[in-house]
Amino acid sequence: MASIGLSVPPGLTISTEACQEYQEYGKKLPEGLWEEILEAFECVEKEMGAKLGDSSKPLLLSVRSGAAISMPGMMDTVLNLALNDEVVAGLASRSGERFAYDSYRRFLDMFGNVVMGISHSLFEEKLEDLKAAKGVKLDTELKASDLKELVALYKTVYLEAKGEQFPSDPKEQLQLAVKAVFDSWDSPRAIKYRSINQITGLKGTAVNIQCMVFGNMGNTSGTGVLFTRNPSTGEKKLYGEFLINAQGEDVVAGIRTPEDLDTMKQCLPEAYKELVQNCEILERHYKDMMDIEFTVQENRLWMLQCRSGKRTGKGAVRIAVDMVNEGLVDARSAIKMVEPQHLDQLLHPQFEDPSSYKDNVIATGLPASPGAAVGQVVFSADDAETWHAQGKSVILVRTETSPEDVGGMHAATGILTARGGMTSHAAVVARGWGKCCVSGCSDLRVNDSEKVVLIGDKIIKEGEWLSLNGSTGEVIMGKQTLAPPAISGDLETFMSMVDEIRSLKVMANADTPEDAQTARNNGAQGIGLCRTEHMFFASDERLKAVRQMIMAVTPEQRKKALDLLLPYQRSDFEGIFRAMDGLPVTIRLLDPPLHEFLPEGDIEQMVSELTSDTGMTEEEVFSKVEKLSEVNPMLGFRGCRLGISYPELTEMQARAIFQAAISMSNHGVQVFPEIMVPLVGTPQELGHQVSLIRSIAEKVFSEMGTSLGYKVGTMIEIPRAALIADEIAKEAEFFSFGTNDLTQMTFGYSRDDVGKFLPVYLSKGILPSDPFEVLDQKGVGQLIKMATDKGCGARPSLKVGICGEHGGEPSSVAFFAEVGLDYVSCSPFRVPIARLAAAQVAA
Ligand code: PEP
Ligand code: MG
Repeated sequence: MASIGLSVPPGLTISTEACQEYQEYGKKLPEGLWEEILEAFECVEKEMGAKLGDSSKPLLLSVRSGAAISMPGMMDTVLNLALNDEVVAGLASRSGERFAYDSYRRFLDMFGNVVMGISHSLFEEKLEDLKAAKGVKLDTELKASDLKELVALYKTVYLEAKGEQFPSDPKEQLQLAVKAVFDSWDSPRAIKYRSINQITGLKGTAVNIQCMVFGNMGNTSGTGVLFTRNPSTGEKKLYGEFLINAQGEDVVAGIRTPEDLDTMKQCLPEAYKELVQNCEILERHYKDMMDIEFTVQENRLWMLQCRSGKRTGKGAVRIAVDMVNEGLVDARSAIKMVEPQHLDQLLHPQFEDPSSYKDNVIATGLPASPGAAVGQVVFSADDAETWHAQGKSVILVRTETSPEDVGGMHAATGILTARGGMTSHAAVVARGWGKCCVSGCSDLRVNDSEKVVLIGDKIIKEGEWLSLNGSTGEVIMGKQTLAPPAISGDLETFMSMVDEIRSLKVMANADTPEDAQTARNNGAQGIGLCRTEHMFFASDERLKAVRQMIMAVTPEQRKKALDLLLPYQRSDFEGIFRAMDGLPVTIRLLDPPLHEFLPEGDIEQMVSELTSDTGMTEEEVFSKVEKLSEVNPMLGFRGCRLGISYPELTEMQARAIFQAAISMSNHGVQVFPEIMVPLVGTPQELGHQVSLIRSIAEKVFSEMGTSLGYKVGTMIEIPRAALIADEIAKEAEFFSFGTNDLTQMTFGYSRDDVGKFLPVYLSKGILPSDPFEVLDQKGVGQLIKMATDKGCGARPSLKVGICGEHGGEPSSVAFFAEVGLDYVSCSPFRVPIARLAAAQVAA
């Protein structure tokens, strides 16, 4: 700010290199540094016409930290430095006794605490005792004589705590303060903050030594904080607070209620005018919305601090769009001004004021699907549906969810589970719908039969209100206030800038025509994954037919059940093709372990339901159910193993796809079907399914008297498939990385059980992040890169994408773009985020 000509209190900066040397060489100031500081300081003294330690022309200092990345409140600062008994007397005669002794006692407390390591509470006790003795409540009610007394008391605190007098030489104070700021770089809280925010590669903190300016020198002085635009809405209007005759601390400590900037405009018009000009200069210089601190001392404006202002999603989008229109930034810079999380906020309902509910947080789980939900607690999917049908808003609380809960999950506004990780069924499904979900909340003890849940030490009964924050994982008591998603015209403008810059395509994971439409509205360029199994849960008849198919003993029985399913699948596919007119639709053959379709509950209940669904005897049902049970279902009878063992299953699905495609094409819809074979580990597996699909295509084409183009490809989600991707590519026209399974099998962590140990791994730093959420670039990423290179080497026209949950996670999307994938596919609600992340790597 000083170098672009704004009024900044004179001072000097010790660079971060000095801090690095200080840390490396046994906490000693680097050679020559102190002399340099003193020399530079002479210029400051000249400019101010005042001198360090001179009681006739006192100069007070602030000694502040300053890292290259803002770490608010994590490091130390000392204000009002250079006071002692002589200097304070000089200051009192110039600026009044009360002001002088108030500054002195503040300095003794701050210096004692930050530099000498004396507990702040020891000073605080003296202050409280004195206030009690004088019969006053507020610090501001203490008179000058009281503050003098307090100074004497504070000095005794030094003597008692350190066994020596407080250092009265201003130069010694300065040197000690510089060292203390350097030391604060490695304070436990600063280390923790850097680790949480993944701030690495910095040398240390700079130290800014600056002359103090005072906003508490009467009614021509004051202090304030402002944002150059409204950080909530983005409106181009100064947004801030001001206090006349006050110091910054008074605002922070809440001693007085600040007023808005109009007060400053009225009381200090000249300083206000300059401030407005400075804001424009700073925005033009930094090309961003800024957060500014300033002080007016006897009508003169001083700029104390500026940094890029934190803002909401809504604010970020509007500021980026406005700044392009104002010619302040170009589109490439503007798209970097909006963080993917900002878009996330815009696409889900949010709590109006998260700070207001902090005392009501009773547990924290994994933030599985963002957004906010408020509802009455229910414990079964059926109740969720019934209550929802009665117009109630419900939170479905389960130990874990099963695919059978899908109706209840859809009916609920939020889902809370005790088990399951970020890609557990509940999480994947909830994210697909943009529904708030907190999973893996281990403090939960659900008692379904009593319809109560113990959360921490709170007992919550059915019907009680609970709120969930899916962005933080917080579980909150009661009915917290929500704000609706705020999608405005600016978002559309912004997203069109984004699309012009990116080359990575963004598709969506969608299983129904409605999801496909949402995906398209959010800008998806096709469907990258349609999980056909989700369609089987859509109605009781479908589920009944699926169960007949699973329970079938002979291929004929199975075929009969499949014939019942075919029309359902065909009509769903027709709806999806219609919604995706002109865009590719990737449909995956049946993938999950079959027992997932069996009824829940104890074995007797299951057997009785299945006998009525299938017409089999109890013994037949019992023996079949036993056969279906698996020790390790995630590695068991699933994926292409189903279609190879039961070719009639693949035949039915392929037939439904081709019939739907031709019938839609006959209605003028442009269809681009792509059939995807799941969980392939050998080229033979894929070869088997590819020839089956192609032979069905020929049959349907000749039956319907027409043909169309289509692709057959595979998911790469087993490490072996990645390792021999060149051989697989000979059979596949496209690859889609299933990074959920690929992560599961590369780490050997069960997707459904990871919640049991992941929190421990994260807290102990064994893993930097949940690998099911943020792609493990080193391991899983290496497989992806290698398989892409090998696959494209064997088949240059190979189309390569990814459809695991990582397809909507910004840092993973950036990785996929860099590796050279053609597309990512993610849940419809994350499509805008992936579009932005893809553009940001290209910009
Ligand atoms: C995957 O494994 O990444 C994938 C997309 O398939 P699913 O999650 O259905 O197993
Ligand atoms: Mg998979």
